[in-house]
Amino acid sequence: MTRGRRYTYHKGFIADNALDFSKRSSFIKEILLERVNPTRIILPCKQHYGVSAVPVVRPGDQVKVGQCVAVPPKGKFSLAVHSGISGVVKEIKEIRLPNGIVCPAIHIENDMKMQRVDSIRHRENMNLTAEDVMGIISNAGICGMGGEGIPTAAKIYRAKSHNVNELLVNCLQSEPYATSDLMVLSEYPGYVVMGAGACARAAGASKVVFLISEKRSMLMSGLENAIQNAGRDFADISFEVKLFRERFPQGYFRLVAEALYNVKLDPEDTLEEKCGAVLFNCSTMCACWEAISENIPLMSRVVSITGDVTNGHNVIVPVGTPVSEVLATGGRADDVAGPVVWGNALTGIAIEDKENTPIIKLTSAITVIRKQEQPRTPCIHCGLCAQNCPVGLSPHIIYEMLKQGMPKKAEEEGGRNCISCGICSYICPAGIRLTQRIATFASEGRIIGENSLLHNTRVQYNIDEIGDLSLLEGYVSESEEEEKEDKDAIVLPFDGGKKV
Ligand code: SF4
Ligand code: SF4
Repeated sequence: MTRGRRYTYHKGFIADNALDFSKRSSFIKEILLERVNPTRIILPCKQHYGVSAVPVVRPGDQVKVGQCVAVPPKGKFSLAVHSGISGVVKEIKEIRLPNGIVCPAIHIENDMKMQRVDSIRHRENMNLTAEDVMGIISNAGICGMGGEGIPTAAKIYRAKSHNVNELLVNCLQSEPYATSDLMVLSEYPGYVVMGAGACARAAGASKVVFLISEKRSMLMSGLENAIQNAGRDFADISFEVKLFRERFPQGYFRLVAEALYNVKLDPEDTLEEKCGAVLFNCSTMCACWEAISENIPLMSRVVSITGDVTNGHNVIVPVGTPVSEVLATGGRADDVAGPVVWGNALTGIAIEDKENTPIIKLTSAITVIRKQEQPRTPCIHCGLCAQNCPVGLSPHIIYEMLKQGMPKKAEEEGGRNCISCGICSYICPAGIRLTQRIATFASEGRIIGENSLLHNTRVQYNIDEIGDLSLLEGYVSESEEEEKEDKDAIVLPFDGGKKV
């Protein structure tokens, strides 16, 4: 392992200490993560990049923990959805998520029995091919949990087809207040390392590189021990840790390319093609190893309850848990609390309806911000937004052009390159909502109808490519081979169902 150099990119934003709760309350001392057991869950069928999954349960059906309740439509780029509780399906109705996604959502009432499907068990046969690993990961409904949402199996497939050499694991989590990934790395370093090793091997990469902030040295010994232990199973893979300077946003793939390889990627470029590397989030790697070793689908995740008016802690939450039930676990949202943010402080979305907004596979935090009077003045030309924009834009100029109805000029100024990091709005002393306007403009050029998920997902898997990428199709087809008995398959809730 080499850990001499400190990597970074230029510009960006360095959170001051007061913004980082992990430095004030020692998250590392949370020995046992509290597991939230909600009274009900609301499971959206589209939590990933791709089309919505299709419910395979009906109101009145009994479901178990780990049961698949929605499957990819045949031949479509999509991902299965699983229940993280046992109980009864109450209804299936349309939901509009704060990120604008509209899809069916399965409402399940918890019977508090926590009955699990039989298929969740230690996998005996670990002699797996790359196709096996990708199949397990897609059957488990795993997508990029750092907010990207791209089905992980498809990303491995893509990396393999580009002959990547390095698999990068993003353990940076640089956004102020956020510590859920760091908590995963602290509690489950072995899962993160083994998941990364398995995904690297499946992608044909010979090296795994963990990217971690120099400020998180307390996580280093656990990570290094896990790497040593993994050596037995992954002798063909080399593992390395690279330290990064503390900076936000640090883990975005274009900025990682700049920091690690000194390569400036255009918005349409991919890390796979230009740098021979693929980037995964550390929580995603952990979920992959849970699926590979124990056949556990992605049905719960670690979420930070955070902000400047909460005690700041991390909990394990079944996907679909309403935000109100997560906050009830001790997030001290008292009368000084302002908006509740679905996601992180700078990139999240403020929500009103806490009872009916669920945690999804991509929700790493619920942030409660202190109530404060926002200044509202015209631009004072301080230049702070341009000084800090991580992709070198002049947000005040682009904003003005958009305001004056000049989208062509805004485009010439690079407005479509915005990565929606939220820094300009956060830093603006005039309280101008720069990000909202610029990010919306940038996303207009990226959305491919029903396949879109997030405004900052720039790498498009276009419809023609999906034939290649749709590993998922293979796992929902009805050919004899795929129907054959597989004791590790995650079972569907109805007799005669297809294997997913
Ligand atoms: S939100 Fe966009 S314009 Fe604003 S700082 Fe981030 S990348 Fe730059
Ligand atoms: S940070 Fe705000 S006030 Fe300063 S230049 Fe940018 S838009 Fe104007």
